[in-house]
Parts: sequence; C-alpha cells; structure tokens
Amino acid sequence: MRALIISDIHANIQALDVCIEAFPAYDIVWNLGDVVGYGANPNEAIARCRELGNVFVRGNHDKACSGVSDLVGFNPVAAMAAIWTKKNLTSENLEWLKALPEGPISPDIELNVACVHGSPLDEDQYLINVHEATEPLLHPAAQCTFFGHTHLQGGFFRQEEIHAIRPAFRDPRLPQRVELKLRPEGTYLINPGSIGQPRDGDPRAGFALYDTDESLVTFYRMPYDIAGAQKRILEAGLPPRLAERLADGR
Ligand code: ZN
Repeated sequence: MRALIISDIHANIQALDVCIEAFPAYDIVWNLGDVVGYGANPNEAIARCRELGNVFVRGNHDKACSGVSDLVGFNPVAAMAAIWTKKNLTSENLEWLKALPEGPISPDIELNVACVHGSPLDEDQYLINVHEATEPLLHPAAQCTFFGHTHLQGGFFRQEEIHAIRPAFRDPRLPQRVELKLRPEGTYLINPGSIGQPRDGDPRAGFALYDTDESLVTFYRMPYDIAGAQKRILEAGLPPRLAERLADGR
C-alpha cells in the first residue's frame, strides 16, 4: 500500500495545489493536522483536504481556530491568525474542524503505524530534537509513527541509539525527493514536512509517501508560488510576518 502523508497545510492553497499536481500515485491519504491557521485560504484548504479524504488527526491550530481549545500558548501573531480564521470559516467547515479526532490513531489495523499531530504521548508536544524524541521512541505507539507540528521534515529513529533523520536535499529551486529505507529492527518517528509553512530553512512545500510493501519513505519538496501566498495573506489583513516567513522557510 502507498500512503500519502501530508501535514501542516495552514490554509496555504498556493502550496497545496502545486503539491496535489505533484503527488505520486497513492492508495490513501493520512493528514496529520493543522489544515488551517496562518494562511489566507482556510475554507479552500479544508475543501481540498476533504476531497483528498481518508485519515485525519487534529492539530493545535485546528482546535484553536474552531474553538475546541483556547489561545493559551499561542504567540500574538498565531492568536491573531486563529481569530481571523475562526471569523472567516463557513459554519460547515467550523463543525468539520471541531470533529477532527485526537491523535494518535491507527490508520490501518494491518500496519504497525500510528498518526499524530505532535507526539504520541501528547498531541500538542513538539518533537524537535533527539532529547524530545527519546521518550516516545522508548514507549512507541507503533513501529512507525508519523507526526507533524514542528514543520521540520525528517524525524528520528531508534536502533539501540536514537538518531535524527534529515533528508539531504540540494537545490532549493527544484522539485526533489529523497528516499529512506526503513530497517525492520528500527523504531521510527517520521515527519513528512509542512506543506504550507516549512521551518527547516527550505521554503519549498514538503510531504511524504510511505510504501508499506517496500518499507520505503520518500520525502518530497516542491517549489510553489510563494509570492502569491504572501499576497493573499497581506490582502486578507493577516500579520505581515506570516507572509515574510514563507520566503525564509522559518
Ligand atoms: Zn502547524
């Protein structure tokens, strides 16, 4: 089976639409949350995600923008964007966001796999470094857990020691992919990257494909119309910082 894994779209349909065109053949979509928040097209992002369909977990922005959680822990820019998003969502999309399930979830009972937004131990926790990844890798929800939230493509694996995984991309102007063969004896935390607001210094949209028959994860990066997404953010009256950071990939 080929699972397409997408995360942290953040209402950026300029990035999402380019990725949709570029998606490789897949059987199912696992969406790790934060469909909305920050970007200027939340209703369109939700519509496309619902069309892509299948498996979802909720992100912290999905919760905040739909009123499931309050804005405690959100910086002022993120809070302003959440308030703007809530005001601009259709009532149907608001209800859809509210109903998204908490992770981790098992997307397929035949597979030793889990999907979560932050950490398998806490849906809102950031797994940025090896130290933070240690506890979930010592008590894994599955052999392979797919997570988002940090907007950093790659992840961690444990085989005796714990190691970071960072796909080695070269040219940030071209579409690219990097393959990772999973070892049967390893335990993995894999982040497909963020489609709508990458933060690993590479402004290209990121996503991943997991081929379960081949035990192969392929990381993708796609250039997109960043200026178009920035223009929409500014026109919407969202904080300019949200436009600027798209170009930096931070
Ligand atoms: Zn996010």
